[in-house]
Amino acid sequence: MLQDNFGRTIDYLRLSITDRCNLRCRYCMPEDGVESLPHHAVLSYEELLRITGIAVALGVRKVRITGGEPLVRRGLTSFIQQLRTLDPDLELTLTTNGILLAGMAEALKAAGLNRINVSLDSLNPERFREISRRDGLDAVLAGLHRAAAVGFSPLKINMVAIRGVNDDEIEAFAALSRENPWEIRFIEFMPVSTGLEYDSRQRVGAAEIIARLQRLGHLEAVPTSATAGPANCYQLSGYAGKIGIIPAVSQHFCGACNRLRLTADGRLRPCLFSTEEIDLRSPLRAGGSDQELRDLLLQATGNKPLGHRIGSDDFAPASRRMHGIGG
Ligand code: SAM
Ligand code: SF4
Repeated sequence: MLQDNFGRTIDYLRLSITDRCNLRCRYCMPEDGVESLPHHAVLSYEELLRITGIAVALGVRKVRITGGEPLVRRGLTSFIQQLRTLDPDLELTLTTNGILLAGMAEALKAAGLNRINVSLDSLNPERFREISRRDGLDAVLAGLHRAAAVGFSPLKINMVAIRGVNDDEIEAFAALSRENPWEIRFIEFMPVSTGLEYDSRQRVGAAEIIARLQRLGHLEAVPTSATAGPANCYQLSGYAGKIGIIPAVSQHFCGACNRLRLTADGRLRPCLFSTEEIDLRSPLRAGGSDQELRDLLLQATGNKPLGHRIGSDDFAPASRRMHGIGG
């Protein structure tokens, strides 16, 4: 079992399988000058599978594949099939921007993926382009509907609300849950790294989002489902779907944190906001034993901080950007 020094059980591993992306969201990546990792620096699927197998043997029950944009990496569906062979009950999930989803949803389902989260920040095509610096709203919407049609459920949509940019769409996003049994999740913007275009004053807090949703109808707090993660769950009366609010900054949920993150170049991060990283790639490539890798997973767990300091005056932004960590 992976148990940290504060009594938290770590049973969730987030795997960033690439740092590359087909969008350039302004809160995540700059337009230019993003140095992609060279091919050999990125962990191979065999290496990822080996680490995941060791983590599963240590009690990990859920794996999320993320990036960069995970759907741009070739061979993903066979990798998911291999992950599935580790344990038939392992919860396998994916976070994607949805651009390539329509063409891949069926194969992802057949490979054994359980659930998908799609990130989408605007329902207006021009604004979508403004935020992500690329066209693609129609492709994402097609991907969402295809994923629903092939049976991914509950389908979750992650929206990062940014004041003066897309915060006027909070109600329109909530309305997606009226007819669709989807979970619309509002995530507080996190100023995790320097050099991005929005700043922390543009964060729209959970309390404000809830107040606005209450004007749409009776907003009832509903029990957090087993798949909800750090989201607080709500439902508008008569709506088919749910609303999730992830107060990443305003009420951090570190006390319930159950996760470790592995970057595409094989660094384990005890916390999203860690400055510390533990190198797994070197021992992997130097013929390290399973025991050695197990010890490093235990070390990362032991080094998990009690809580992050984002939002406080002494918070130091991480040197890696979100696309390099996986969110
Ligand atoms: N490319 C995929 C996607 O966008 O879903 C996976 C990687 S992305 C880094 C994972 C999540 O992090 C996305 O939902 C994205 O909106 C979120 N994210 C990125 N930068 C963020 C920030 N500064 N604040 C809050 N969420 C952020
Ligand atoms: Fe790419 Fe996701 Fe970052 Fe947007 S949030 S730039 S889609 S990695």
